[in-house]
Amino acid sequence: MISFYPGPSKVYETIPQYVKDAYREGIVSVNHRSDEFVAMSKKTIGLLRQKLRIPRDYTIFFTSSATECWEIIAQSWVTETSFHLYNGAFGQKWFDYTKRLHVNATPVAFDVNEAISTSHIAQLSNHGVICITQNETSNGTQVTNAIIKKIKSQYPGALIAIDATSSMAGIKLDFKNGDIWFASVQKCFGLPAGLGIMACSPYAMAKAAAIGEKNHYNSVTFMSEMMNKWQTSCTPNVLGIYLLMRVLEAGDPINVTHERLVAQYKEWNEFLKERKTLKHFVSNEKVHSYTVLPIQADAETLASIKKNAKAAGILLGEGYGAFKPVTFRIANFPALNGKEIKTLKKFLKSW
Ligand SMILES: *Cc1c(COP(=O)(O)O)cnc(C)c1O
Repeated sequence: MISFYPGPSKVYETIPQYVKDAYREGIVSVNHRSDEFVAMSKKTIGLLRQKLRIPRDYTIFFTSSATECWEIIAQSWVTETSFHLYNGAFGQKWFDYTKRLHVNATPVAFDVNEAISTSHIAQLSNHGVICITQNETSNGTQVTNAIIKKIKSQYPGALIAIDATSSMAGIKLDFKNGDIWFASVQKCFGLPAGLGIMACSPYAMAKAAAIGEKNHYNSVTFMSEMMNKWQTSCTPNVLGIYLLMRVLEAGDPINVTHERLVAQYKEWNEFLKERKTLKHFVSNEKVHSYTVLPIQADAETLASIKKNAKAAGILLGEGYGAFKPVTFRIANFPALNGKEIKTLKKFLKSW
């Protein structure tokens, strides 16, 4: 079965070998305060910087998921208010979780077919955390590096927090323009779920220290003290970190992966334009995600595609939320190879 699900998604074919190596090397039972763990943690963080071009002065943390990062941000960085720019289900969920902890969390919603505009940006302020879902996995749209840069330059006093869960390790991100970036590894990293990555600017770290929130095991102040020793505040997903290290070590630098995914996205977009019964769910190409493609069809076609996909050895992503009856989604993640994409295109050509 080839999984085109946009998370959890197809893992790299090297994973079974790496898991065996981890077992043989005793990594799976290694103590998380040991020198062995510290060396592995340090190496993995170095590889994240090197392969993904995360600036040297950003602090990188291991968490357990992107959802945990939403909560860490609400706990440790939001004081007065937060602004949530969103056009889909994940951005809204982030807002909903934050709202439970801070009544002043403010939604700034925009349309699926529209880019964030000056009128949305005008609703933000320098006081607070500005939350952006860079790649909205539910509807296959993205916020460009240029827009994030514009927000940052207009509000230098605010903290810019960016959910890049389904784009980090797939496309080039200008880390400089944001303060708190996070993702989990079951999307573009091509790894099994259960590990999150959070990269924080010196400004974000200074703010966390000034706020000084210390009420939780995952308060940033506490996580930071531990990360100064390349450690975590709880027993982390050691196998996950090991697999991340191996995958990064063997993988391409981000600019190479980016070029490949953008080229594949363009081919998908052309392919969809040629179909009579299928089309991209988002009509405005300028906001298309490079890594997630939502595809629209009438209910009958969709039912027929879904029914036949399984028999053809293909797992398609369900449409998300309200769009479920008329869409399906496919991942354009790095772990999917050309042969697999060809198989899916051949299958979809029958409709
Ligand atoms: C998948 C996803 C999440 C949730 O990730 P978890 O690892 O389940 O916490 C959050 N945001 C976006 C944009 C996602 O795609």
